Amino acid sequence: MLTGSGAQVKKVFILGSTGSIGANALSVCESLGKDYRIVGISGHSNLNLLARQADKFRPRFVVVTDSDGAHLAPEKLLRSHKVLSGDDGLQEALFRCAPDIVVNAIWGTSGVAASLSAVEYCRTLALANKESMVVAGEILLSRARDKDCLIIPVDSEHSAIFQALLSGRREELRRVILTASGGPLRNLKKGELSSVSPAQALKHPVWSMGKRITLDSATMMNKALEMIEARYLFNLTPEQIEVVIHPEGVIHSIVEFCDSSMIAQMSVPDMRVAIQYAITYPRRLSNSVAPLDLVRLKRLTFLSASERRFPALSVGKFALEMGGTSGAVVASANEVAGAAFLEGRISFPRVVEVVSEVLQSHSVVLNPEMDTIREAQIRARERAALLVSKSFSRKRGHLR
Ligand code: NAD
Ligand code: MG
Repeated sequence: MLTGSGAQVKKVFILGSTGSIGANALSVCESLGKDYRIVGISGHSNLNLLARQADKFRPRFVVVTDSDGAHLAPEKLLRSHKVLSGDDGLQEALFRCAPDIVVNAIWGTSGVAASLSAVEYCRTLALANKESMVVAGEILLSRARDKDCLIIPVDSEHSAIFQALLSGRREELRRVILTASGGPLRNLKKGELSSVSPAQALKHPVWSMGKRITLDSATMMNKALEMIEARYLFNLTPEQIEVVIHPEGVIHSIVEFCDSSMIAQMSVPDMRVAIQYAITYPRRLSNSVAPLDLVRLKRLTFLSASERRFPALSVGKFALEMGGTSGAVVASANEVAGAAFLEGRISFPRVVEVVSEVLQSHSVVLNPEMDTIREAQIRARERAALLVSKSFSRKRGHLR
């Protein structure tokens, strides 16, 4: 289909449209106008919001990924839209829409299967779901290559690296520096962390994001996952990946080339910049995001990312060195431990300890098939749950 300007209309499917990134992706597409049409959306819960989005964007397909909860969809949604459910429904919708662009904004490791399906049916996967790379990076990249599907990162650090890499040749790259805001607890001393409450951990100073990634920013497990994400996305060695604390959150990451030139990508911390770039790549289109006011900003600060203060970074490094199934183990154990903290079952520092203990007890499998990865995830979840329940009973006995 052609637009008034003669350009081909791009068909966009947004997975996880009811979440923070998904809702932003819808508003980016809306602001891009008629050249981008929403052909599909999916949501897992919050079906009233999904119904409102369906009414507004009139996609060809609406998918409720939680097949058990699909019957809770509002009557009006079911009457006026083609609603499919579960993983099979998602596959069918992707197949029948053959979208140009899929934005995967599903939360957590449950988004991995959706990425693997998306690369079968779309031209570009705009990937917010970092767990897809962390859990199954090699498999996803190889399937995308086979299908000629481009993967463009939405995660702001990886979008920055992707953009900065365009300044040089691949063989000229020396290292990448991932920036981290340090999260809401950056200024607390190590000893103060054991009394941190979920409400404190969920108050991010710079970014407005979904609940779980906000917690991951506080524990820095988000940065650990991003180190692994970068490794696969950009085919890096562990030694080429560094992390630096940058509290202002305006330099989204930096690439250093062999001549010691550093190329950084900057903007106000607003995910719409990275989302839009992934959708419109290789074009840049104007938007309504406020430009960065450098004079008002005055200074940029960088601090060393100490592994003693942020033990999650050691977990990330260890997983980078181990490779294979270790990313899947870290991501899965972190989901269990993070949920346990939010439910008040373990202390804040215990989240990273649990992930670290699960990783250390894991026998890594290199170049794993999907079945091996799933098996490793199940074991990691079980082990993390066991460690959580042991900590919980000790906590009830006032020992921890
Ligand atoms: P969110 O919790 O706000 O939204 C998640 C979406 O996933 C919702 O639509 C929800 O219905 C759906 N979902 C939840 N469980 C699901 C399941 N089991 N199966 C299918 N769909 C499910 O999350 P978010 O903050 O938008 O983050 C989404 C992804 O983007 C995460 O992988 C996160 O790490 C990544 N990311 C987010 C940000 C951000 O600013 N929020 C930045 C960078 C990367
Ligand atoms: Mg990020």
